[in-house]
Amino acid sequence: MRLGRLGYQYGDRVEIVYRSFIVAAPFRHGTATIRLRIRADTNATKFDPRLVIIEPIASMPLKPFAPNPGVDKKVFLLKPRGFCAGVVRAIDVVKIALDLYGPPVYVRKEIVHNKHVVDELRDAGAVFVEELSEVPEGARAIFSAHGVAPAVRKEAKERRLEIIDATCPLVTKVHLEAVKFAREGSSIVLIGHKDHDEVIGTLGEVPGCSFLVETVEDADRLELPDPTRVRYLTQTTLSLDETLDIVQRLKERFPLIQGPPAQDICYATENRQMAVKAVSEAIELLLVVGSQNSSNSKRLVEVGDNFGVRSFLVNDCSDIDTAWLDGIRNVGVTAGASAPEHLVQELMEFLRERGYRNMEEIELVDEDVRFSLPAELMISIQ
Ligand code: SF4
Repeated sequence: MRLGRLGYQYGDRVEIVYRSFIVAAPFRHGTATIRLRIRADTNATKFDPRLVIIEPIASMPLKPFAPNPGVDKKVFLLKPRGFCAGVVRAIDVVKIALDLYGPPVYVRKEIVHNKHVVDELRDAGAVFVEELSEVPEGARAIFSAHGVAPAVRKEAKERRLEIIDATCPLVTKVHLEAVKFAREGSSIVLIGHKDHDEVIGTLGEVPGCSFLVETVEDADRLELPDPTRVRYLTQTTLSLDETLDIVQRLKERFPLIQGPPAQDICYATENRQMAVKAVSEAIELLLVVGSQNSSNSKRLVEVGDNFGVRSFLVNDCSDIDTAWLDGIRNVGVTAGASAPEHLVQELMEFLRERGYRNMEEIELVDEDVRFSLPAELMISIQ
């Protein structure tokens, strides 16, 4: 296979996937990430370069890093990691609301899926509730970064609540796409996880014409009223690889299915997963800082596992079983999009105390995404 003829240069970072199996590991010293998909029938057992189709899925500057050449224990600290723009905004919303109006400020659901963040805001005067019925009439309430269904907005209006909406703009984008496609008369196939707040909100935008698919098997079983009018959308925090497999199956079953204009899996989810993949050959253990209910953190663990690295999700360093470190020379450390940096630094200190004094921070891409505050808060600030 001559990549040059296809417009790619020696040194490009390439990942070859045969159906859902990685058949060639990524090249190490690349400058971009390119997925090559292989079109082959299900019975094919051999890799055939003639069946390769080039499909760039992402482009990410990959700065060379030094694999651990010696016997010393080493930590590869991944970047980007931790807070994304949607989480920063949501936390700012609660803090600013507390400053402006004083406690209590009610927050529907966890503002972001991280226990430490929620505990810190609770200590500052935020009151977390599961449903708006727990908020006194006329009080001020904040919607979390994961978004809500229209029924929740309606309830807020009926109860005359002062709402500040901290829904991440990238989640709102998915909601708007769902509404637009439904208006066009399409069925909406939403790829996501059943009980996640974001999925509940998105499905609530288009009840009656939406279908949830969690796995390839769900896609196999899916029956639609009109297979010629169908769109798919995804939760923002899914595994890129698993989603690709599900989309592939949907396309096989419903050849006219169309996706969103730009993928719904958000930049932060994608960047953190790509960083894990990039370092996977250099590490034997991956520690992901994040809460058990954080979808994007759990996906990082899955990506590590899928790339052959023993991977664990830890709320903080107290969750680490030191037996995990037995015989381990190279550890990767990252954090989900809702995990605060101070927990990462505490984990680094924990590892340093256990002999991992050699540290290299691997930065794959500069993240400079920022979201403005919700209009209802801006008005109060002005
Ligand atoms: Fe928004 Fe993505 Fe962060 Fe979720 S993970 S809050 S979609 S930027």
